[in-house]
Amino acid sequence: MDRSELPTDPLANELDAFVDSHHLSERGRAVDRAPEFPHPEYRAMGEAGWLGLTTPVAFGGRGLPVARAGALLYRLAFRSGTIFAKLSLQPEFSSVLREVGSPTLVDEWFRPMVAGRRLISNQITEPGAGSDALAIRMEARRADSGYVLTGEKSEIAFAEEADAAIVYGRVPGGPEGVTAFLVPQADPGIVRRKVGTDLGERWQRRGSVSYRGVTVPATARLGEEGRGFTYVRTELTRERALLAAIYLGVARASWVETVEYVGHRTAFGRPLSANQAVAFPLVEDGALLDAVWLYVLRTLSRYDDGKDVEGEAALAKAMSTRVALNVLDHAIQFHGGHGYSDDLPFEQRWRDVRSGSIAHGSSEIMDLVAARKLWPRRPPA
Ligand SMILES: Cc1cc2nc3c(=O)[nH]c(=O)nc-3n(C[C@H](O)[C@H](O)[C@H](O)COP(=O)(O)OP(=O)(O)OC[C@H]3O[C@@H](n4cnc5c(N)ncnc54)[C@H](O)[C@@H]3O)c2cc1C
Repeated sequence: MDRSELPTDPLANELDAFVDSHHLSERGRAVDRAPEFPHPEYRAMGEAGWLGLTTPVAFGGRGLPVARAGALLYRLAFRSGTIFAKLSLQPEFSSVLREVGSPTLVDEWFRPMVAGRRLISNQITEPGAGSDALAIRMEARRADSGYVLTGEKSEIAFAEEADAAIVYGRVPGGPEGVTAFLVPQADPGIVRRKVGTDLGERWQRRGSVSYRGVTVPATARLGEEGRGFTYVRTELTRERALLAAIYLGVARASWVETVEYVGHRTAFGRPLSANQAVAFPLVEDGALLDAVWLYVLRTLSRYDDGKDVEGEAALAKAMSTRVALNVLDHAIQFHGGHGYSDDLPFEQRWRDVRSGSIAHGSSEIMDLVAARKLWPRRPPA
């Protein structure tokens, strides 16, 4: 595959060497066919410094600006699909723990996660509350010793594998809003169950997690009561823009492969690319991939400059998913019957990227977040 398509970075050679030596592309295909969490690669990524690209050096990460992290994730996704790029983001998905967790919790859970020795899930969604996250009902009742958690979380990645989870609940009689807790998952009051088989991203082995009166100490609380969603807001902005880079990297790889293929596959005595019905969509895809990538890079740079990019990051994720799915559909289509089979990587890539229209905020909700920046909500007259 032509790597000249990729943005340059001083760490690019090191990253490429890691991808090659750990056979990440092949492994990504294997954990789709026999879904399992890729523990050996997760550990190796931690040891080699590929978990937590934006995590400050003081916490064991690389401390890169998010724009640079985005370019590296794009490269990683271009080379090996979504899986390992998303693994690289795991500390990013737990930045609330690093930012407002106690030093003891950070030492016990966050640092080992960056080293690839702990896995932490995020538990927001419930059977009755997904997009409307403020409707969550998980109860975190105050008790002498801390809090008692009761309720059910659903759609959760690593439901059975996570060592601990950042769990969002409500404190009855406490302040408005949602409170975050760091909860080790081995407690006997926690029942974890993998549910069904997903369309894509099967290595995440999603499922439900029930809390039946689980006591956690007050020190498990992350930050102040009622402020959980305030903390997670900045994290969501950053991670959405970084996820956009991942979806575009996967799509760009597929586009490069398809352009190459239609240039030499012949039908009716000439290359497929000689047909406008094949060539024109691919030409347009190339331009759209560039356009959205420039938008994502600008969003990431503006984040680094301290600008409010909540709306842009939401749109970056929604647009990158739409463009990537279209590009992947063309990759399947123009590879013909073979493209539809799992001999080639496109069907898996399409299934994996398809999760991006739902997870971390659905595309409809991303559009809504962006629209609210243009037309802010006004209090009722
Ligand atoms: C691969 C994957 C991994 C996930 N991992 C996790 C995880 O680790 N932890 C976790 O907590 N959750 C996780 N989720 C859950 C995810 O966050 C939710 O599925 C998502 O927020 C949508 O919520 P919902 O499923 O309840 O759908 P709903 O909120 O019921 O929405 C259903 C549909 O209606 C649309 N809709 C809803 N409200 C509006 C509106 N106002 N305007 C327009 N359209 C609207 C939505 O966009 C969606 O298309 C994961 C999901 C996936 C697919």
